[in-house]
Amino acid sequence: MKKVIFITTLLIFGFALHGLGQTVYSSAKGEKYHTADCRLSGDAGPLTMAEAKKAGKGACEICKPNDLGKAKLNQCTGKTADGTRCKRKTANKNKKCFQHQ
Ligand SMILES: [Zn+2]
Ligand SMILES: [Zn+2]
Repeated sequence: MKKVIFITTLLIFGFALHGLGQTVYSSAKGEKYHTADCRLSGDAGPLTMAEAKKAGKGACEICKPNDLGKAKLNQCTGKTADGTRCKRKTANKNKKCFQHQ
């Protein structure tokens, strides 16, 4: 039984680490970190979530970067100017990226 708990702990820990390795976006002076799709990410550069947290940044309340990397991303259902399906991934409920909603 102890072994099961040990493995479970390892798994949870592994997931947590994976989450912290998630790439988020934040500008140098930004107090929040964002997902790639967030309309507030602006000129933000990529960094890992662990780095963002270390720098004292908080998760954006609009794009909600998720600690466990579980934010479910859907491909945007919008169409680009040439009529092809938008390739952006979005966590928005309406399945539209920031450009198409
Ligand atoms: Zn955001
Ligand atoms: Zn789109």
